[in-house]
Amino acid sequence: MNQLITGHTRLAALFAKPAKHSISPAMHNLSFEDQKVDAVYLAFDVDPESLAASIQSIRQLDLLGVNLSMPHKMAAVPLVDELSPAAELIGAINTIVNHKGHLIGHNTDGIGFMRALGDIEVSIIGGTMTVIGAGGAATAIISQAALDGVETIHVFNRNDEFYPVIESKLQQIAAATTCNITLGDLDDQQALGLAIKESQLLVNATGVGMKPQEDASPLKDRGMLRESLAVYDVIYNPRETRLLRDAKAAGAKTANGLSMLLYQGAAAFELWTDKKMPIEKVKTLIE
Ligand code: NAD
Repeated sequence: MNQLITGHTRLAALFAKPAKHSISPAMHNLSFEDQKVDAVYLAFDVDPESLAASIQSIRQLDLLGVNLSMPHKMAAVPLVDELSPAAELIGAINTIVNHKGHLIGHNTDGIGFMRALGDIEVSIIGGTMTVIGAGGAATAIISQAALDGVETIHVFNRNDEFYPVIESKLQQIAAATTCNITLGDLDDQQALGLAIKESQLLVNATGVGMKPQEDASPLKDRGMLRESLAVYDVIYNPRETRLLRDAKAAGAKTANGLSMLLYQGAAAFELWTDKKMPIEKVKTLIE
């Protein structure tokens, strides 16, 4: 870093546990320097019991803002002063912007996902998509897609103890938007096949296929894949999951979760600085 740190330099940070493995400091520090923003970004390991005090320090020390990651995305919601419409709907935040002590919570994961579709020239507004999974990443994706005008979203999740909670959350998102949202059991492969048939985009928002289970796919039958079905996998380790390999073999457009990671960061950077993240330069850091 060539930038000179002075008494005026502002701090942005990541609050997470663990935080030290994160790519966010590299992304944001490169962007601050490139865009001539007098700020630095550091990653802090924050325990759940220290979260409230850490968020209070944003006000006291006049931080630019923070990113939040596991396990703080939901716990931070009642600790800020205002929520963006998407954050309100999702019920979780990954970014806080400090407006002179007034903290606004945003969720840029879904924004990042929608922007990532542009990289593979997929337009899903007014269309139909199928999402496998209904956890944190999926909820952000579904909420933003519904807010942005996707017409129908078919969600499939394993029928575990969270299923009833997922059902009411999806009803809430559908009621707050104009989107039709259905929920199905991931074990019902026939229903999954029908949903995929009428979709233009399939999203894996589970960790199935992540290292070290690289041979696993959330899809039991790869015959459901086809050339005209774009496939997005939120996983980026490995860069190419079995699902993406199968989709590529079917001739489909594919992308991994790196672009969602990049653009959620870009959206946070823009919220803090009103400047654009230098995407092409930051891409070289993470690819
Ligand atoms: P989560 O724990 O909130 O949700 C996990 C989801 O996966 C749930 O719907 C769960 O039912 C489902 N699931 C887990 N194991 C399964 C299995 N064996 N079979 C079927 N379904 C299963 O987790 P999350 O925060 O939503 O993260 C999910 C994935 O998204 C992770 O791989 C994470 O690394 C990735 N992620 C990527 C980004 C990005 O920017 N690319 C952002 C957030 C999360």
